[in-house]
Amino acid sequence: MALSLYDSASRGNVPFEPADPARVRIYTCGPTVYRYAHIGNLRTYLLTDLLVRTLRFLGYGTFAVQNITDMGHMHQEQLEAGEDKVVAAARAAGKSAREIAAFFTEAFFRDGRHMAFFPADVYPRASEHVPEMIALVSALEERGVVYGEGGYLYFDVTKTPGYGVFSGTVLGEGEAAERTDEGIHRHKKRPEDFTLWLPAEAGREFQWESRWGRGWPGWHIECAAMAIKYLGPEFDVHVGGVDLRFPHHENSRAVVMTATGKRFAAVWMHAAHLLVDGKKMSKSAGNEYTLDDLAAAPRPGGKGFSPADFRHYCLTLHYSSPMNFTWEGQEAAARARSRLQAAFRRAALRGTSGGNAAAALRTEFLDAISDSLNMPRALAVAHKAVRSGIGGDVARSLAEEWDAVLAVGLLSEAGAESEAAVVGEGEPAGVPDAVAALARQRDALRAAGDYSGADALRERIRAAGYEVIDKGKETSRIVKR
Ligand SMILES: [Zn+2]
Repeated sequence: MALSLYDSASRGNVPFEPADPARVRIYTCGPTVYRYAHIGNLRTYLLTDLLVRTLRFLGYGTFAVQNITDMGHMHQEQLEAGEDKVVAAARAAGKSAREIAAFFTEAFFRDGRHMAFFPADVYPRASEHVPEMIALVSALEERGVVYGEGGYLYFDVTKTPGYGVFSGTVLGEGEAAERTDEGIHRHKKRPEDFTLWLPAEAGREFQWESRWGRGWPGWHIECAAMAIKYLGPEFDVHVGGVDLRFPHHENSRAVVMTATGKRFAAVWMHAAHLLVDGKKMSKSAGNEYTLDDLAAAPRPGGKGFSPADFRHYCLTLHYSSPMNFTWEGQEAAARARSRLQAAFRRAALRGTSGGNAAAALRTEFLDAISDSLNMPRALAVAHKAVRSGIGGDVARSLAEEWDAVLAVGLLSEAGAESEAAVVGEGEPAGVPDAVAALARQRDALRAAGDYSGADALRERIRAAGYEVIDKGKETSRIVKR
């Protein structure tokens, strides 16, 4: 089955036909780095990871870009209200905006490693691409779609034919119109027009010289400029959370299409919302959970939920379905993950068997991920596989192959969690596969009562610079020495 993806612009499954299969170009809207990523953000970034892992599994090459919004505006209305969150947080903590942004950028990378996200090829910082944004605004000016005064520049959306069709927004109706704030938008002709450039207020750290005066760029122009720079005005897939569909993606798209005459992204993928106990996450409700909150969850045995447990929970739902996070749901997913791991481990320790079933299972797995990244179905195939009598090398190779996409540590209890533990010590690299394999062999020897053999393997793991930490008869963590 050939890969098809759900395209939220055309609202249907489309056959995936990248311009260059050896280099599929992907853009993902990245974090605004003034706070920790919550689990809803992580679910969105997971979509890019699943896309990249699936493409690579299917033999494509990938080139992925994820921006870092380090100038502090997440929502256009906050931006236009002059409320810069990076600056506000920095001031409260007595730090510079750059220091705060650098701190949370690091936290974002750490979360990504813990979640086993395949790293992007480029992480452009918005603050390092302002000349490109200024050039893009100039190009828009030449097309006659820009107006404004007093250092404010706006994009006139009525000059873009079909504006609103992408997100299903009708000018003057609905959400866009409700965002109107006469005080803030005094220069604007209509609520949907959006800011391209703003004058710098006193004390603003991030500001640049331009021929419209000292100021800073609007949010929608940022992603547009960085996408064009690294991927060109036409590329294969654009990924983001569904909350960005309007106005952010509608507007980024209008900018690029108007300035370049090109179509921007061929396919748009939007990750659905994540709710907590049926409610929207918010700071005030105290339900904006992070990976640290999951790790601190009280559970029998004193160990909270690992990033891999959360990853597994996400995989039990299709990315386009809204997810209602509950602690009970997380517990069930963590248990399902351990059962699956234990079943694969037991199967791997048995004699080799089930070679005939493996081909059909491989096809089923391939069909699942090729059907717009249907991970719940892919997980079901993994469950089916361990019940089908596979054993030994057959079980081991299926687990290894499939974990290249699922990345939930199918074969090893140590796997994903040990990586997290190592990274948690400030070490960017995960546990090398060779070390993880030695730890698995050591577990097998101990299970078989061969303690001197197990000790010899422990020495080899130490020689490679790692230490195994046991829990009962199993390795619970591998940490760097
Ligand atoms: Zn964006």
